[in-house]
Amino acid sequence: MRSLLSFLVPLLTLVSLSSARVHRAPAHHVRQLATTASAPSSVAATASTTVTVSGSVLPTNATSNSTILPTFAFTLQSTNPTAVPLSSIVAGATSAPTSPLSAIPAPGSVPTYLPGAPPLPDPNTLRPADYPPLDKVPPIDSPQVQQWIADVKNSGVAIPGFSPNVLGGCSANPQAASDPNRCWWYCGGCTRKTDITDCPTHMEWGLTYDDGPAYHTTQLLSYLDQVQLKSTFFVVGSRVISFPSILQAEYLDQHQIAVHTWSHSYLTTLTNEQIIAELGWSKKVIKDVLGVTPNIMRPPYGDIDDRVRAISIAMGLTPVIWTRISPTATFDTGDFNINGGLVSVSGVLYNWENIISNATARDRGFIVLEHDLFQQTVEIATGYILPDAIAHNFVIKPVVSCLGLTYQDAYIELNDNKTNPPLIEVSGAVSLTATPSGGLIQSTGTSGNSASKKSASNGLALAVATAFGGLVAGSMIIF
Ligand SMILES: [Zn+2]
Repeated sequence: MRSLLSFLVPLLTLVSLSSARVHRAPAHHVRQLATTASAPSSVAATASTTVTVSGSVLPTNATSNSTILPTFAFTLQSTNPTAVPLSSIVAGATSAPTSPLSAIPAPGSVPTYLPGAPPLPDPNTLRPADYPPLDKVPPIDSPQVQQWIADVKNSGVAIPGFSPNVLGGCSANPQAASDPNRCWWYCGGCTRKTDITDCPTHMEWGLTYDDGPAYHTTQLLSYLDQVQLKSTFFVVGSRVISFPSILQAEYLDQHQIAVHTWSHSYLTTLTNEQIIAELGWSKKVIKDVLGVTPNIMRPPYGDIDDRVRAISIAMGLTPVIWTRISPTATFDTGDFNINGGLVSVSGVLYNWENIISNATARDRGFIVLEHDLFQQTVEIATGYILPDAIAHNFVIKPVVSCLGLTYQDAYIELNDNKTNPPLIEVSGAVSLTATPSGGLIQSTGTSGNSASKKSASNGLALAVATAFGGLVAGSMIIF
């Protein structure tokens, strides 16, 4: 077992880098430090044995980065022959041209794979003025939001009465972080039986991409089409306003569409009414563009507690997080942080290698956090992670499929409510009782994402969580 100190040293580097760069990030991309570290926790100076590609890659054109990031050893079984070089996947990378959609969806098209789906609306009729300002928590005084608030009140789902958290993460909210009755996933990984956090079948990967649609999503769609894979896209309502045709293309290509809020805010910091507005506007814009409404949601940053859960369930949305088997073994590639200059591409591939180990070792399948928001995240997905995953023989599916459900089960209007009854209608499901593995601090492993590191005591895990809090008290960092 690696020492606590060696675990924290790279973290300290991250924290110091982060504080220096907060001002550069748009509000949407400012992330608080979670106790679920996705940052690589060891530094290897040399390349390990390679099959196709392996190594520690230093950026050769670090551009805006004045600090060279730590590099990490990794091994990949396969890469995409047309992948951009790893040395080009850096913060401040030169913008690559975006590829056009292979086909612009025609209004009136019907997704033939989805029985009962209505014809596709015309995205040109979408009027941004009919929606809240982009990337801001929507106001709650509109008649539309007031109606959704009334609907939640009438749903019969009891919303816990605790007050919203303040921004600043676990250390800024110590009482909430230590309250098992809140079951705050972001601080400790607590889950409820209503949460979807993995796929039931060994070696099955419920593929997900968050934060789009965006400029480089088309490149991801093109690659997924090439290798005949389907994904789940957790889309941000504000991005749907900007890229409605890309959302339609995802949907027509048999990818699952899901809710990732309107403004990508920390949901536990919002009032009940604001959470309702975030989820309601996201549902509405997706319905306006596709004609159907998703029935799963992912809380940005994994920031969900029982209050957010209850509101989501009352609005017909089942929470989906990503797999987490210990405080330091979360299935988060960290890809988001390349763009912000907080992790090197080798760090992300090191995380990926550890995810593979953990995924292969566990009995059930898994869900990984990745993004289609940035050029770098799409380049690493299409060039490296997905080809490597295919070579490892993972069975890759959208979340709805890995759960053994049909595409109709993914949308409120098409779900027959029998094979996939909404949680709101399942007796007892909204009582939000803890899962056997749920708890304040789930366990084991303090020294990286490796499957072999499962021996640490809960006491040490708690100590690490405390150390995190001490390191970042009161500060916001990109993460
Ligand atoms: Zn997100």
